[in-house]
Amino acid sequence: MPTTPTLRLNDDRTMPQLGYGVWRVSNDEASTSVGEALKAGYRSIDTASIYENEEGVGKAIAAADIPRDELFITTKLWNNSHSPDAALKAFDESLARLRLDFVDLYLIHWPVAGSEAYPDAWRVLIRLREEGRAKSIGVSNFNIPHLQRIIAETGVTPAVNQIEVHPRFQQRELREFHAANGIATESWGPLGQGSLVANEELATIGRKYGKTPAQVILRWHLDHGLIAIPKSVTPSRIRENLDVFDFELDAEDVRIIERMDDKGGRVGPNPAVFG
Ligand code: NAD
Repeated sequence: MPTTPTLRLNDDRTMPQLGYGVWRVSNDEASTSVGEALKAGYRSIDTASIYENEEGVGKAIAAADIPRDELFITTKLWNNSHSPDAALKAFDESLARLRLDFVDLYLIHWPVAGSEAYPDAWRVLIRLREEGRAKSIGVSNFNIPHLQRIIAETGVTPAVNQIEVHPRFQQRELREFHAANGIATESWGPLGQGSLVANEELATIGRKYGKTPAQVILRWHLDHGLIAIPKSVTPSRIRENLDVFDFELDAEDVRIIERMDDKGGRVGPNPAVFG
């Protein structure tokens, strides 16, 4: 069973650096594929209320006989529930669907462009952490001004910001802000949502190590201190994406990948306008 490296968060808790994401996976699929992922050795699972598969994730967790303290379960608060009452209710509903009495990480899914409610949601997350029902709290898709605002208003810095990061969209400026402020960067769409898994440059790098482009990309995330949560429902790929702990990229590989960065390389929505 592979041992996944962990990162220490700013609240002194640890988080696996590689996890399993389940966006666009149905409840039925999730109960099977999360089971496959846990069997393969993943211990961190990333879901969200909007994915509508928390029940399937919860079913798989219950079926796998793994001690709770070895698991790291993340879910997220959706955009229509930022007001305090709605956020508390949404959190309770997520916990019930997951069949858990706490989550390891609770995230505000998006700041929601044009809305002023995300600091209210952040105050709810602070309360959930104080109650021990969310062990760590963070955000997702926050830009620097969003982060500055919640930190200034509450004095509490998110442990994690989950953002789109992959070789074509490396987000260096935001990552530097995170590093300077003790925020861990979690990469969503770590494989460019599948768009980079047949990339020829990455395939060439991978051939040196007997690794696939997906594995080269995931190694790049790990080497940069990022947390990656690749998704696949194919058992062989679920295992492949975890088989990245036995090789290292050399300086030339890293330079090639750094050059792939492209300001227009975003594959998902832009948080500055999405919401
Ligand atoms: P990803 O970069 O993980 O790519 C997933 C796709 O890549 C799969 O559908 C599959 O087609 C392909 N793939 C995966 N492994 C492969 C392999 N070894 N070989 C060949 N192809 C492979 O994209 P994603 O699912 O969008 O992101 C990962 C996770 O991040 C999601 O499941 C979700 O948990 C999270 N996420 C969060 C947000 C957010 O707003 N916070 C947004 C998108 C995704």
